[in-house]
Amino acid sequence: MSSAKTINHQEMNNIIAATDECVMCGLCLPHCPTYSISKNEAESPRGRISLVRALYEKKLEISDSITSHLDHCLTCMNCEQACPANVDYEKIINAGRAEIYRQNKKNLQQYLLLLILSKPNIRKILKPFLAVFRSIGLDRLLPNLRAINLLSNSKNLLNIPHHNKTINKHIDTKGNQPNIVVMNSCAADLINDQTIDAAKSILSQLGCYIIPQTQSHCCGALHQHTGDLKTATSLRNKLLRSIEIENVDHIVSLASGCGAQIKRYPMLEDTPIAKQFSNKLIDVSELILQQLENNELKFKTLAGKVYLHKPCSQRQIINDPNTIERLLKYIPNIELVYFKDQLACCGAGGINTISETELADQLIENKVHEIKNSAANYLVSSNIGCALHFQARLKRENIHVKICHPISLLAQQVI
Ligand code: SF4
Ligand code: SF4
Repeated sequence: MSSAKTINHQEMNNIIAATDECVMCGLCLPHCPTYSISKNEAESPRGRISLVRALYEKKLEISDSITSHLDHCLTCMNCEQACPANVDYEKIINAGRAEIYRQNKKNLQQYLLLLILSKPNIRKILKPFLAVFRSIGLDRLLPNLRAINLLSNSKNLLNIPHHNKTINKHIDTKGNQPNIVVMNSCAADLINDQTIDAAKSILSQLGCYIIPQTQSHCCGALHQHTGDLKTATSLRNKLLRSIEIENVDHIVSLASGCGAQIKRYPMLEDTPIAKQFSNKLIDVSELILQQLENNELKFKTLAGKVYLHKPCSQRQIINDPNTIERLLKYIPNIELVYFKDQLACCGAGGINTISETELADQLIENKVHEIKNSAANYLVSSNIGCALHFQARLKRENIHVKICHPISLLAQQVI
């Protein structure tokens, strides 16, 4: 089907105008993980911008090779941060992928994962089966079923016992303490509810009132990144209308990928609700750090080495890059260890762990090697996709490191 029949002229001109902003200086190239590996211009931000422009100008037809160059992009946004011309790279790559999606070039595994994540009822049905898949060793029997294997293999992830104290039972109408919504992301809802409990427990002990939510909603980030803009828009609409925003001081993000997507909502739709939602979004570590300034919480000593992974998406929502280490340093004696190249993407970006396995494996290689030689006890990451990617790879290498969200580790140490 021709893209001209499915996209209006104005939209096409907007994308071409966005590509016009690129002055082709190449300053982004050294910051791009896929270009660093391949040294191929088509695997660079500048090359991808040119490809998308050519698609929209109808100078190129979609081919397998163009699809794979656009699919390889990790949406780490290192290029946007390095770009002196403020090119809106994310808009351009999303437009390129949307064009491919419009022409029905879909990947079955991607489709399966996105379907699971976007439907709360499917997640509810699947959840008990993940333990069964795990017990029969599905990953060994059907290694190509990466989407399900990745989810079912999450048993050892974030499995840390913690206190589950809750204190505040009533909404604070006097404005003394924040009324908050803790966002349950779709993936966390399925495999990582311990982190949600950990965050609620700490925030509640720090005096926040947690407004109960009946259902978790998907933010649409993965659909957006894979070009399914129709589903991404519908999921965004559901999430925006799921909270009575006027009663909320903060919407707390636990998953950095979802947080980064919500921060961008006003760029996707110019509505007051999108702006309010985005303005009220705060990363869980940032809010806990703020609350600890005025409330006391005691932590017990941790004997162990903790690798701190800084997901690319986290840099898009937290202003101070040292927020998580400042928070973890409340734990007495904690020994934090950092990857040699802290800004290097681990390769999990979007759903690359499933769709671009070879590239994802190459990008995580150095980090796995560092962990192997470190005698680390924990690895903390605020991105669930990165955590699962590390977990799958470390399991394959028989490296025993406990992987968790920084907030799970913090909750474990609360006295
Ligand atoms: S988002 Fe990351 S992987 Fe994609 S082009 Fe930019 S730097 Fe490269
Ligand atoms: S995206 Fe920005 S940094 Fe990269 S080539 Fe274009 S103008 Fe230069």
